[in-house]
Parts: sequence; structure tokens; C-alpha cells
Amino acid sequence: MTNEPHLVPIHVVGARGRMGTSIIREVVQSENFILEGAVDRTGGPGLGHDAGRLVGLTEVGVKVGELLEPRPGTVVLDFSLPEATPKNLARCVEHHVPLVCGTTGGGEVVEQLIREASANIPIVYAANFSAGVTMLIALAGIAARSLGPKWEAEIVELHHRHKKDAPSGTALRIAHEVASSREQTLSEIFVADRSTRHQARSADEVGIFGMRGGDSVGEHTLMLLSDGERVELTHRATDRRIFARGALRAARWVVDKPPGVYDMRDVLGIDPV
Ligand code: NAD
Repeated sequence: MTNEPHLVPIHVVGARGRMGTSIIREVVQSENFILEGAVDRTGGPGLGHDAGRLVGLTEVGVKVGELLEPRPGTVVLDFSLPEATPKNLARCVEHHVPLVCGTTGGGEVVEQLIREASANIPIVYAANFSAGVTMLIALAGIAARSLGPKWEAEIVELHHRHKKDAPSGTALRIAHEVASSREQTLSEIFVADRSTRHQARSADEVGIFGMRGGDSVGEHTLMLLSDGERVELTHRATDRRIFARGALRAARWVVDKPPGVYDMRDVLGIDPV
């Protein structure tokens, strides 16, 4: 038995972006959500146009606007720019509505504002809304802690040819989880290049190797190796819609939560270890 409302009204900020478009498509095609608002930056393309039409679907009667005006009972999803997040936070507090924030790159300043706003409203804040990646990171922590520091950890990741950063943020997050399980920091254990070292691995280090090519949405494998056996934990993303679906799962979850900052582990119900 659940108290979840049948239809969760959604406001999307960054409506014309890759994530905003993907979220609007999922909302319009879902029986569990209804699109109530779509916002993008002043002067941006698509302002005044029907949000459903803009994402290649039928008209939904919601025009893309430039002002976030959510009525109580709705959930705001912000996937825009870090410069926009402070204003969006203030609007959500003013209108007493929950926020699902996936905008990255705001650093400590935006994170502090999120903590302050969370005294008044519930906020789900995550750099990666994929349920599968969230689970992989949680399992990495459990495995590294349970198997112990004698098991050697290595991480391999693969992404499409256009990705500019390496290793991926998710690979670093997995390594961070392994490091914390050993009460170490990421910078103490992380090795990305062994080509010039001419020495065997140290017991503590975690090698991370980034492969680039093709159109891979993202693959990550954590190997935990011992004498005579090894464990491999792998997540493979084949569709970018996983982020939109995860964000909407968070939106449904956060509707009736008390004020506070939450992440995808809370949404999935993963107990802190
Ligand atoms: P994008 O550049 O395609 O879209 C951003 C949109 O925000 C654009 O339409 C832009 O016009 C709009 N925008 C800019 N300023 C605005 C403002 N002041 N008010 C309202 N809208 C504004 O980017 P994207 O790929 O959709 O990503 C958006 C954000 O989400 C980035 O920070 C990205 O890192 C993050 N992201 C997070 C996840 C996750 O799982 N947490 C997944 C993918 C992307």
C-alpha cells in the first residue's frame, strides 16, 4: 500500500536542453506524471512554443516560458546551468515545492545554497541519476569493505569517442568508494598511468583505465582481485534516457518527504553502511 499520488505534476527547468527534452518526453509518454511547466533561459530558442511539440510529440498545452512559477503540489526538475540553480532554489522555497536538481558544476557555493534551502523543502541532489550507477557505487563500497584491503582493485571504463574528460566522474566515484572502505583518500590510491613506472603495483593503489571509442553511453567495471579468484561488478548504459527516468523516479519519491537533502541512494532505499 502506498500514499503516492497517481499523477505527479512536473516543472522542467532547462526544458530545451538534452536532459530537459528527454525528461519532457518521458513525462508526456508516462501515465504517472503530468507536465505543468517548462522553463528555459530568457531569449532562448523555443520560448512560447508548446513543450510537447518541441520534443517531437503531440501538443500538451504547456508553453515553454522563462519564469518558474510552480504551484504547491508540483515537483521541479532542474537540469540547466549552475548559474541558474540559486534562482531556482529560491523559487522552490518561495512556492514550497520539492526540487530534483541534477545540474552539475556549481561547486561548494551552490551546494551550500542547496543545504540552506533544504531547511525548508526536500531536495534530491545527485550528479548521476542512473539507478544502475547508484547501485554499482553502493555495491562497490560493500564489496571493497567486506572483502578487505588485501583484495586489489582495478577499474576499467569505456565511453564514446566525443568524451573529453578521463577517467570518467563515475570511475572516480567508484575509486572514492574503494578508498573510503580503506580509510584512504582518492588521491592517495588513484593511478591512471603505469607506463613510466617500471615497478609492480602497490597493495593500496587503484588503477583506472579509460577507453574511448564508438558510441558507448558508458560502461564501468570494478575488478576486485585475489589469489585464485576475482569479483567483477559491471554497469553498462545503453540509453541516455536512464538519467531522465532516474530523475522522475526521484520526483515521485520526494513528493511527500520532509525538508532535507537527499541523493539517489535515498531514493533507491539503500541503507548507509
Ligand atoms: P544542455 O546544455 O543541453 O541544456 C541546458 C539547458 O538549460 C539549455 O536549454 C539552456 O538554454 C538552459 N538554461 C540555461 N540557463 C538557464 C536559465 N537561467 N534558466 C533556465 N534554463 C536555462 O545541457 P544538458 O546536457 O541537458 O545538461 C544540463 C545539466 O544537467 C548539466 O549541468 C549536466 O551536467 C547535468 N546532467 C546531469 C545528469 C545527472 O544524472 N545528474 C545527467 C546529465 C546531465
